[in-house]
Parts: sequence; structure tokens; C-alpha cells
Amino acid sequence: MQMFHNEIPQLRQQAYVNGEWVDAFDKSTQSVFNPATGERLGAVPQLGVQQIDDCIEAAEAAFYHWREVPVRERCALLTAWFNSIKAERKRLARILTLEQGKPYAEALGEIDYAASYIQWFAQPALLDIGAALPYGQQPLDMLVTSEPVGVCAAITPWNFPAAMITRKVAPALAAGCTKIVKPAPDTPFTALALAELAAQVGIPAGVLNVVTGDAQVIGERLTQSSRVRKLSFTGSTAVGRSLMAACAPTLKRLSLELGGNAPFIVCADADLDAAVDGAIAAKFRNAGQTCVCANAFYVADSVYDDFAQRLTDRVQQLQLGTGDQPEVTVGPLINRAALHKVEQMVTDAIQHGGEIRCGGKRWRDHGNWYLPTVITEVDASARCVQEEIFGPVAPLVRFIDSSTLLQQLRVQHAGLAAYVFTQNLEQIQRFVRQLEVGMVGINSGLISDAAVPFGGIKASGMGREGGRQGIEEYLETKYIKLNN
Ligand code: NAP
Repeated sequence: MQMFHNEIPQLRQQAYVNGEWVDAFDKSTQSVFNPATGERLGAVPQLGVQQIDDCIEAAEAAFYHWREVPVRERCALLTAWFNSIKAERKRLARILTLEQGKPYAEALGEIDYAASYIQWFAQPALLDIGAALPYGQQPLDMLVTSEPVGVCAAITPWNFPAAMITRKVAPALAAGCTKIVKPAPDTPFTALALAELAAQVGIPAGVLNVVTGDAQVIGERLTQSSRVRKLSFTGSTAVGRSLMAACAPTLKRLSLELGGNAPFIVCADADLDAAVDGAIAAKFRNAGQTCVCANAFYVADSVYDDFAQRLTDRVQQLQLGTGDQPEVTVGPLINRAALHKVEQMVTDAIQHGGEIRCGGKRWRDHGNWYLPTVITEVDASARCVQEEIFGPVAPLVRFIDSSTLLQQLRVQHAGLAAYVFTQNLEQIQRFVRQLEVGMVGINSGLISDAAVPFGGIKASGMGREGGRQGIEEYLETKYIKLNN
């Protein structure tokens, strides 16, 4: 049974610049495909250099107006945007499923999650930042206040086509900044649909812009322009590093939400039912394509076989298929390159002692399908342990003692998230202190929320999105010495 008929919801196939829906001056476009079927969904403009520069200029002009709009009014507009997204959540989720592939129920969850960032940052109280410092000669002669950073750019990946946009746009707009978003070329339609709703609720022209086209061209203009005062990027560590270098000449502020390699640790005293539930949520959500996905599983020797069997049983119950089928729990990978990478990693795992317990191969010839996979007895030197897999593959590594494990994990470059399942308070405290990551889930496979700071350390980047910290990324501190 299908949850919705085959008709495609209307897709905005133009970029949104300074309040206008625009094509490329030279009419060039980029096609967008459904990753589940390979079908072409439509196309978006490939904007040229001049159009990106015009957009930056418009965002700058809009900034000087927007920053003067009282905070409560800015937040009221964000609240209206939140409400319209909630009202349109089903249509948005369908667009998201079509271009990204995740099951419809998961897409609805993402739309709600995306909207929750707007709701969170629409709180005027988050901008209640400032102080009269008590160190001067008079009570009020040393003041600290904050101001919006200015024009900000966002470059986002395809794995969360809605949430990656709202968690960068909402705090910027609340703070008084304007924004230029470049969505991933695989998933531009969700971003454009969100922009359309923003326009409908009255977010002024130039305050939010969505540009589409060649990543190199857009990236170069956004990073080189001294008018763009901040770049927020979510994506791979390699691209993050090159964008950081490109921003150096103009000394932009940066938020980099980069790749992860989250260890999922199951201790000898773990509640194994809870650990398996956590593993399914942390590994197979979005077909394993989230930056905080559990990467490799480190399982205590004494419970290894039991956990491996229980996990395999549960993974075999997962249902692959197109997102419009209600029983489907796992969608396709985003593209062929992702499929090839996962295949190579599984081959390498087998060469490193891995035994396939389930999955381990493609599913269907068309589309980018890979079966949910469990591999046991993988050596820790295998690629799927050392690098981010970004696919529905769970390699299981044995560990004997947690001190040695913690030392091994310390040498990892990534530092985004980690999951630990244990019922021992001492263990919990040790893991929380010694894991070098930005976020830890204890007995929990789901950790993110608009109200908490999301982000990593080391090669996983810098800066935080969400929580009170998320808005500070868009504010500059100003000190005032006030002599009466
Ligand atoms: P990616 O290759 O780095 O691409 C991300 C975005 O950057 C895409 O829109 C891409 O456009 C664009 N891009 C690439 N090169 C660029 C350049 N030189 N200038 C400007 N833009 C450029 O990453 P991905 O493979 O799509 O996304 C998956 C990665 O994102 C994983 O490593 C994952 O862990 C990470 N991620 C991190 C977080 C987090 O919060 N830490 C969240 C989600 C995902 P093109 O596709 O056109 O190149």
C-alpha cells in the first residue's frame, strides 16, 4: 500500500534571491533525481558569478534594515514561519522523501525537528545578552552588549535537507543577521519550499536567500567576499578544511559541523535490550547517513555474542523500500558514489576478518540500495572502524577492558558524538570525562534537540548549533566605556 499517490508535489525550480524567484542569466540548470528510483524530479538554476555577487549585495542592504527590526518583531516573523511549516509539514515531508529518499515517517520527523529550531530561536529571551561590569569607577561605565555579525552564508549537505537549513537560518535571523543558503545539489527543493513559506509569512526580501548552482563557483564567491562576515558549513571534514582556508583572507567567523565517527560502546553490564534499541536508532536512521550515526560498535567480550545475535535479529526485521510505503524503515543511499563507498568498506571489513551476519550486498539494480548489514569480528584497523561509513552497516569490534578502549579511541581524528551503554555510575563518569567528543549519549541512541548545543571537536569541527550557544555564533560582543 502506498501512503500517497504518485503525483509529485509542486516543486519550486527557481532560486530565491532578494525576494525574487530567479533563473540563471544563461538559463543553465542542474537536474535533481529521486535516489530511490533514479527518476529525474526536476531542475534548479545554476546561478552565475554575477548573480551570487548580486545576492551578497542584496543581503548586505537587507541587513542594515533587518538589524533595526525590534527583536520581538523578528521573533514574531520566525514564529509565523514555524507555524506555516507545521501547517505544511506533510507536503514538505513528501518533497523531502522524493529528493532525499528517507521514509515518509522519518521525513515528517525531520520537518518537525527542523521547525523546532525555528521555534527555539524565536525566543526573544535568548538575545538577553549583555552586562554592566562592576570594575569601573562608576556603576555603569563599563558596558558589554552584542550585535549581529552581518551577512552570513550557509552551505548544507543532503542528509537533512530541512533541519540543516533551519538550524543555521533561524538563529541568524533572530540575531539580526541576513542569510544566503546554498543547499546541497541533491536536495534543493526542500530548501526552496522552506524559503517560499518564509516569503509568504513576510520575512523581508534579502533577509533569506537560497542560491543554487555549482558548489565551487558559489563557494568561491561566498568565501572571498569581505561582505560575508560568517560562514556556517555542514559537510565533510575535507571540504570544511578547504572552506576554512578560503575564508582566511577575509577572516570570517566560522561554524564547521563536519564528519563524525561515533563509537557505540556496549559495556558488560549494559541493558542489552536498551542497547539494541539504541543501536537501531543510532545506526540505521536515515540509512546510516547522519553525522552522529553510530559508526563502529565496541562490545565487551562477555556480552559480545549475545549482543551480536540480538542486533542481527533486529536488523533482519528492518524493511527496505521507497519512502512512500508505510512499512518501510530504511531508504536508499543518496547516490551511486555513496553506494560504491559502502561496498568498498564492506569488502575491506571482510579482508580484516569480518564475518557477515546479515546483509553485506546491494538490493535491487535500480536506485542506490544497500541491505542493512551486521559484520562481526572486525579488526579495529578496518576502514569501516577508522572512517565514517555513512551507510547501513554495523561493524562489531570486541573489547576486553575499557581503559585500553578509551586510549584507542583517543587517537581518532573525529570528535563529534559517542554512545555508551552501561549501568555503572563510575563507568559513566569515566566515559563522559575521557571521550574526546562534543556530545555523549548515555544509554540513549538519540541525542539531538533544538534546545541543546550540537557540534563537535577535533576534526569534527567548531561551533555549536542549537541551545543558547547556537545564537552566540551569530553575535559579536561590543564593549562600551561610558564616561558621564
Ligand atoms: P560534502 O561533500 O562536504 O558536501 C556538503 C556541501 O558542501 C554540499 O552542498 C556540497 O555541494 C558543498 N561543497 C562541496 N565542496 C564545496 C566547495 N568547494 N565550496 C562550496 N561548497 C562546497 O559533504 P556530503 O558528503 O554532502 O555530506 C556528508 C558529510 O557531512 C559527512 O561527513 C557528515 O558527517 C557531514 N555532516 C556533519 C554534520 C554535523 O553536524 N557535524 C551534520 C550532517 C552531515 P556539492 O555536492 O555540489 O559539492
